[in-house]
Amino acid sequence: MEGLRAENAGVDAAGASAEEKYRALAYDTALSTLVAVAVYVVVKVSVDGIRQWRARIPVLIVGSGPVGLAAALVAVRSGKVLKLTLLEERYRAALLCRPQQIALDPRSVNFLLGLGVDFDNMEGCWHNEHFFTRIGVFQEYLLSILEQKKHKVDVRVQLGTKFSEDYLRRIPHNEWPRVIVVADGSCGDSCSVLGISSDFSVESCHAYGANATIERPDQRQVPTPEIRAHSLYFDLSAYGVEALREHRTPPTKPGFHLKIYGTFRNRYMALICPASDTKMVRFLRHTANAAVMKNIFHQSFNAYKTDIEPRLSDVTLHHMQCSRRLFEIQLSHRRISAAYIEGDNVAVTVEGEAARVLNFDTGEHASSWACDSLVHFVAFHLVRLRVLSHACHACHPGCGVNLGMRGLESMGTFIYRTATAVDRNDVLEALSAKMQHSRQVAETFRQTGLTESIYE
Ligand SMILES: Cc1cc2nc3c(=O)[nH]c(=O)nc-3n(C[C@H](O)[C@H](O)[C@H](O)COP(=O)(O)OP(=O)(O)OC[C@H]3O[C@@H](n4cnc5c(N)ncnc54)[C@H](O)[C@@H]3O)c2cc1C
Repeated sequence: MEGLRAENAGVDAAGASAEEKYRALAYDTALSTLVAVAVYVVVKVSVDGIRQWRARIPVLIVGSGPVGLAAALVAVRSGKVLKLTLLEERYRAALLCRPQQIALDPRSVNFLLGLGVDFDNMEGCWHNEHFFTRIGVFQEYLLSILEQKKHKVDVRVQLGTKFSEDYLRRIPHNEWPRVIVVADGSCGDSCSVLGISSDFSVESCHAYGANATIERPDQRQVPTPEIRAHSLYFDLSAYGVEALREHRTPPTKPGFHLKIYGTFRNRYMALICPASDTKMVRFLRHTANAAVMKNIFHQSFNAYKTDIEPRLSDVTLHHMQCSRRLFEIQLSHRRISAAYIEGDNVAVTVEGEAARVLNFDTGEHASSWACDSLVHFVAFHLVRLRVLSHACHACHPGCGVNLGMRGLESMGTFIYRTATAVDRNDVLEALSAKMQHSRQVAETFRQTGLTESIYE
């Protein structure tokens, strides 16, 4: 009995020490696993960090309009660019003499300040927190900042060089860019060179508008603040429309908003109202009498112009071109604004007016195509009639919201993500986020853009 107890005690002691050994072993194993995992994590994080820190990619930007140049600044700022090539088919003189005025809204101003743009050193003027300057002046200034960045990044500005299939073919395979930004404006065809679909969505902005252009060669080109007038009603009784009676029942019948802008030489007027079905609106949408709109613009200009500019008289009226009737304001935006070129591992994004444009421009061809109907608009953007290209100015939201700058707000992150991508999936995710942002810019503008920029 005694022997059996001693034997049991021996077995217990052996069991306890085995358990202890097992525990110690388990503890050691857990500890070493933990250390190994920690070392792995530290090494991986450091290696990833170093890789991300060192990651630099070649970037190609097509078009040196305001958007292409601002995109170039974003790229340089991202710190992820090894070599930046900027292509522009125009030569310097043609590029920088663009006289049209651009208005930069406060959000675009802030964005550009963040890129190092010093508005105090640019010819222009401020009004209501908007900055007004000429496109040529703006482009020249951005080009000069890029020149200054040459010591940091290899920046190559190639003016007088067209992006084409031939240009692509001539790039040596090992020098292909990893990112291509297409900012070739509303008349560019670089997207088709890259095989990106030219399918556009055309959507209503729930507003009607008309615009007019006055060109006076004897006037100065200096940037000029814009003039706005709200809640206008027109007496169209001479045309048989008893609008006055109608507008006495506010607030359901919104009036018109007028904007006069541009330099004293190129004066533009934008007339806009929220979509409604009042008698006046219906009449102005369908009238066959082109004199009605002309008369409205004529009277409006004389009533609201600055004191120092000449009135429009019957003699000078022929210098004015205007829409024949009210048209529906629509935003056209690319269905596909980003793409991936598989074999060459290139991410492409489309920006500025190459990506989205409003049919509310005041360019040369305003009176011929923008004024009348969706048919012209669709024809221009979907079929992109080449025959129109030569007459094509940059079209713009005659309302001073620079959607091109909005689109660039996601450019820095996009370049960062593409430069630091580990594999193709990362690049595709970066592209998908970029495209989503582009859609969001269009949608937000459609919903609230006109309200924010014109009515308020
Ligand atoms: C009369 C007028 C008034 C305006 N007023 C305002 C305003 O008040 N507020 C406002 O926000 N905007 C205004 N704009 C619009 C403003 O000009 C546009 O928003 C802006 O120009 C669009 O810039 P972008 O860079 O997208 O295109 P663009 O300015 O058209 O630039 C595209 C560039 O790409 C180049 N290019 C085209 N194809 C190729 C190719 N294959 N290879 C190389 N280069 C190529 C073109 O030569 C061009 O220089 C106005 C425009 C006009 C015409």
